Amino acid sequence: MLLPNPAPIQFLAHSILEEKGIELAVKRLDLVHPEVSGNKFFKLKYNLEKAKKEGKNKILTFGGAFSNHIYATAEAAKAENIEAIGIIRGERTEPLNATLLHAENLGMHLHFIDRNSYRNKSQPQFLATLQKKFGDFYLIPEGGTNELAIEGTKEILDSDDLNFSHVCSSIGTGGTFCGLYSSLSENQKLLGFSSLKGEFIHEEIAELLQKNQLNSQGLYEIFTTYHYGGYAKHTQELIDFIWWFYESFGIVLDPIYTGKMAFGIWDLIKNDYFFYSSKILMIHSGGLQGNNGFTQMTGIKLPNP
Ligand SMILES: *Cc1c(COP(=O)(O)O)cnc(C)c1O
Repeated sequence: MLLPNPAPIQFLAHSILEEKGIELAVKRLDLVHPEVSGNKFFKLKYNLEKAKKEGKNKILTFGGAFSNHIYATAEAAKAENIEAIGIIRGERTEPLNATLLHAENLGMHLHFIDRNSYRNKSQPQFLATLQKKFGDFYLIPEGGTNELAIEGTKEILDSDDLNFSHVCSSIGTGGTFCGLYSSLSENQKLLGFSSLKGEFIHEEIAELLQKNQLNSQGLYEIFTTYHYGGYAKHTQELIDFIWWFYESFGIVLDPIYTGKMAFGIWDLIKNDYFFYSSKILMIHSGGLQGNNGFTQMTGIKLPNP
């Protein structure tokens, strides 16, 4: 069984927060499990339970070469004694990067496919060929978002979090955002910070909410202006902010998701988006395993947990 550690809430102190009359706290999901970190813990939890209940001894999923989802799935499968297959976008290059090496060392079978074939990742025909190759498996889609993943992320907020006026989360596929949204209480607003470029995410979230019949007592708003060039893209401004945040508060962020969200929140605070006496809860969704790979690839140093 995957069991979570408590995710502590850390209040931040800064003169700007005082001046604007704002409380800002970070919910440290990065500490929820030593290896299955952050939101991925919640997204995988019920999926692994279901796989076991169905008697499947194999799970198969998809991801890029630095994927937090691949890393977390390899860990979770190992903990649950289930075989794991990771279909990885692109060619295998030796030596493997830290993410893939770790997954493989945990026993995940890595299968590399070219970018064109990878696009078929949700096509039934393509999945059938995988079934032929690997035998019967429990499928977890890329990024891990499905109905059970959303069910799991509904458990991120607990009763202590009802006092916050705003809850903030980064958005990839939007699964985590949807779970958080449906667990809001009255008078709470969820702010989502898309790490991808484009306005499509508004529609995607609306569809996810509808498909999973999710309602909420609260409100939501999505920001699409803090992606820094798009998914996995960065600017020096973002890197500087991640270092500043670390030096100011002792919390490590990643450049793909949480760094962009925190930058956005800080920007909104400075620009008086929040009313006086707002209480903001920032969800630290983890993902710090990727910082090593980011440094390997770009040569840019980042803080480390
Ligand atoms: C995967 C991931 C996200 C995005 O979660 P979605 O449910 O796909 O929106 C956010 N933050 C981190 C650190 C992640 O690893």
